Order: sequence, then structure tokens, then C-alpha cells
Amino acid sequence: MKTLLIKNATVITLGEKNRVLPQHSVLIEGEHIKKIAPDKDIQVQANEEIDAKGMLLMPGFINAHMHFYSSFARGLGKANPSKNFGEVLENLWWRLDKKLTLEDSYYSTMVACVDAIKKGTTTLIDHHASPHAITGSLKSVAGAILDAGLRGNLCYELSDRDGARISREGIEENIEFIRHCQENPNDHLRALFGLHASFTLEDATLKLAVEEAKKYKAGFHVHCAEDISDQEITFKKTGKRVVRRLNDLGILGPQTILGHCIHLDDEELDLVAKSGSMIVHNPQSNMNNAVGVANVNKMLSKGILVGLGTDAMTVNMLEELRSALWINHLFNKNPSVGFMECTGLLTQSNAKIANRFWTGLGEIKEGCKADVILMNYHAPTPLDETTFLGHLVFGLSNGVVDSTIVSGKVLMRHQNLLGIDEERVAHRSRELATKLWGRF
Ligand SMILES: [Zn+2]
Repeated sequence: MKTLLIKNATVITLGEKNRVLPQHSVLIEGEHIKKIAPDKDIQVQANEEIDAKGMLLMPGFINAHMHFYSSFARGLGKANPSKNFGEVLENLWWRLDKKLTLEDSYYSTMVACVDAIKKGTTTLIDHHASPHAITGSLKSVAGAILDAGLRGNLCYELSDRDGARISREGIEENIEFIRHCQENPNDHLRALFGLHASFTLEDATLKLAVEEAKKYKAGFHVHCAEDISDQEITFKKTGKRVVRRLNDLGILGPQTILGHCIHLDDEELDLVAKSGSMIVHNPQSNMNNAVGVANVNKMLSKGILVGLGTDAMTVNMLEELRSALWINHLFNKNPSVGFMECTGLLTQSNAKIANRFWTGLGEIKEGCKADVILMNYHAPTPLDETTFLGHLVFGLSNGVVDSTIVSGKVLMRHQNLLGIDEERVAHRSRELATKLWGRF
């Protein structure tokens, strides 16, 4: 089996009990971490070696809620100004996603993957939409994930907003991809059943989705009470609040991811907790869309597994972490709360979320998956287990990711992307985005 030795690193293990181990080496064998030991104790001839020169070696970051397709909105100025969340969807996202082709789905994913490798994000849980190019879209997204060498958990966002035929196609695309992943196991890919949001889905469609997903034991990935309008429309339509409705239909559970959950009452939070469902907090997106602030501390106090996503605002998880922290202070009108909670979303909870679908992610430990990054950061103040989180928020967030390794394969070495021609990807993306904007 191929071996890779990373020498002379300061290892940050994360996991339940984070340790900071200076002057350590990590031996990777195949796709896994084989050995972690002081430099002097690992004297092996590996197939490949990297001298970390004292850089920090950490687990790759995990983004628990993403939309790759939104890469092609970067710089698009043609959307009408929006007064509220509904208009953001109508004026931008639901106009844009209808114009996406299968090749757009591939390249918009590839663009985000290039950024993710550069920022050390190695696993991404995505929610895809392309209502006029649904069939095969998840394989297009998956193709980019595989070509980039990252890990992705993919789904198609089923919705009734474009009529029965497109809704039906959304169900089929989810099932087709879930089946594909089960029949062709590949550790880079996982599948969920995607649902847009309660307010764009009828009971009959949701019942069908649950029936199909159950056959494959698949969980769901759904936007949940991101804006108050999700509650208002759902209640008007069904007489139930969003989480009660999702719960009654059988959508909640330990394999289900609920994005946002800003406008939930106590009863709904209790239902989420009881079901074991996961919540993903996306602070930058919430601020950008002016939809409100999720009460993360309350969710955590109820025992809910809450992770951190970016909702495609960025793939830089440290940028998102800082936003989570600042908005938590502001929301609670207290600069001293939420530090452990917010840092824990990224350093602990995202690994737990990913490990409901994979095993051995988010920790540097013998036997874990070799998803490893090197950060070119030389601590200007003491760095150990007691100070690491302070360095993460205030120092590493401005640090440079030097190398990114996924499943034992080096995707970026000393800031050079290996295996991806970034210029070619950007060139083709610009051609496709130009055409897309012409159709917008
Ligand atoms: Zn989203």
C-alpha cells in the first residue's frame, strides 16, 4: 500500500480530547492514518514525504450545508433588488437555477472544489437545484467531486414550485443517485434525499418522498424555517408548524439534516432533539438574507447536534466560524457567551455530522481517514490544548492552507494544486457563466 510520511509537524488532533503535539510525524498508509509519533520515533522509508517545517497538521474542514451551483452567481448584477427572503429566491436563485445545464452543474461544483482545496475544506454536504436539467445533475456534481478528489454528500432539492413533472423528476433524481451510491460504493460520495423546504412542498409529494427514501434507508436534507415565511405559508397550508409537519410525515431522524432552523419554537426544538435530527447553522447567509439569527446556544442546551455550514457564501470554514461567533455575541447581547459553543460547531459537531455518513472523519487519530491539511501558521503566542481555539479564531483564520490531503492523496502541496488545471477550470467556467448570464 502507498505510504506518505509528513514529518516535523505540530499535530492538532481535534476529536473528543484535542491534543497539540509539536515535532510529530504522521504516517499515512493507503487511505488511513497509520501512525502518529514524535519525529524521532518514526524512521520509515515512505513512498512520499512532506516536510511540514513546523506547520500545523489538522483534520480537513467539513462544510455541513453547501450549494455548489451558486458559484455561477458570483458577480451577477442582473437580479432585481429584493425586499425580503421570498424575493431573494424569486429574483435570483429561482431564476438562476432554472437556466443551469448539466455542464454548468459540473463546472460550478469544480470551481467551488478548487476553492475548497485551497481553504482546506475536504468534505462538503451539498444541496443541488437545476429544475430544467435535473436528470443526471447529481452525477455531474459527483463527477466534479471525484475529479477534485474531495468528499461530498449530495442530494437534489425536490420542490413543487415548478409543477408536477419537475417535482416527479426531482424524486427520481434523488432515488437514482441514492441507488447509484449504494450499488457502487465509493468513499468519496454519499447521498441524502433532498427537499427544498416545507413551504414549496405539498403533503402528497412529501409522502411520496418519504416512501421512496425509506426503501433505501436514506435521510433527508432540507431547509427548515430559514425565514418566518416558511412557518407562515406552511401553517396556512397545513395548520401545522414546519417541524411538527416534517415530524408527522416521518422526515425527521438521526440521518436528517435541517438547515437554518431560525424560526422554531420550543416545542419544535424539542421535536428535533427527540428525533435526533441534525441542525446546520449558516450565519453569513442568514445575515446576508436578513432572515434572523438562529438560537444556537438554546439548540445545544436541548442536546441537539448543531453543525456549521456556509450555504455557499464561502467554502472557508474559519471565515464562517468567526461570523458564527460575532452574531452569537450580538444576538445574546453578551460578548462572553458562545465561544465554546461556536468553535465546537466546527471542531466537534461537523465531524459528528459527517461521521453519521462516513467513519473516521474530522480527527487525527490512528485508523482515521487521512483527510489532513497543513496550515502555514507559526504561533506568535503560546500554543497548546488550552489556547488552540483562540489561535483558531484569531490567528488561523488568517493563516494559509499549505497542503490538502484527502483519503491519503495529496490534492495540494505547498499551495500547488495537483491534478487540477485551475486556469482551465476558470476559463471554461467563465465561458459557461457568460452564456448562463445571457439566459438569465
Ligand atoms: Zn441552503
